[in-house]
Amino acid sequence: MVKSSMVDKELETDSIKDVIKKKIKEKIKKELLDEICEELKLEEEELTAEITSMITQKTSKSITAPTMNLTKIPATEVEENLLINSQAHEKIKKEVYITVKAILKIASHALKYANSKISKVNWVEVIGLLAGKLDKNDILHIEDAYPMGHGTAVYAEIKDYKNYVKAFKDIRKEKLSICGWYHSHPSYNCFMSKEDLGTQARYQKLWEKAVALVIDPYQINGKSTGFEIYQCDVKNNTWYPLVYGIKGSLDIRMLPEIMNFLLPVIEGKPVYLEYDED
Ligand SMILES: [Zn+2]
Repeated sequence: MVKSSMVDKELETDSIKDVIKKKIKEKIKKELLDEICEELKLEEEELTAEITSMITQKTSKSITAPTMNLTKIPATEVEENLLINSQAHEKIKKEVYITVKAILKIASHALKYANSKISKVNWVEVIGLLAGKLDKNDILHIEDAYPMGHGTAVYAEIKDYKNYVKAFKDIRKEKLSICGWYHSHPSYNCFMSKEDLGTQARYQKLWEKAVALVIDPYQINGKSTGFEIYQCDVKNNTWYPLVYGIKGSLDIRMLPEIMNFLLPVIEGKPVYLEYDED
């Protein structure tokens, strides 16, 4: 009798303990969630404020016709064909500039996960953010690129929101804003897939001038830079390439040589060992 009541008591205590444990867990979970929500809300507010200030800055300045002369970087024949076949949309001539630094960073990032040291079946896409600003003529200047991650052979996404926030802060430190995203199509040409279009639509919702850069490092052949910059027509679910210019002096005929030179670094090897180091 006594024994059985003790067992009962123990059971009772155990169940009380369980209830308390559960309650504590729930409380911790809730507090954590609240904290995360608060953090996300703050970042979102900052982002919105930044975008708004960028837009108002731009509109408050006098509007003069762009005087810069842009020429379309020749794309490869395959890319052109793809565009013509998949795009009923006529090419809309919009203007954007990109720095050599951003190009080299993006190309290096793409090659890091798709190079000759990796068997081709293991090549994957990479993804990153573009940082830039508008000039007084409303032309977007992509100043820098921020590698974020890599994905599968045909897909990449920014998985960790916390990293997004980190990059956002770094970009702001440089007095730039997130002006779009880039990803790679290792060896299968530049275009916007259905998923890419969906991602781009979300960027354009945040900021209507946001751009998507797609790079296929295997199109860097001396005639092509291997990348295109796109925007989408959200309503009609179509995409179109923008006309872009390269800031600074980069002869695209030199790009393959530069990338070759960088390849050992990209693959994580020392480039030029002294004989003494051997
Ligand atoms: Zn894609």
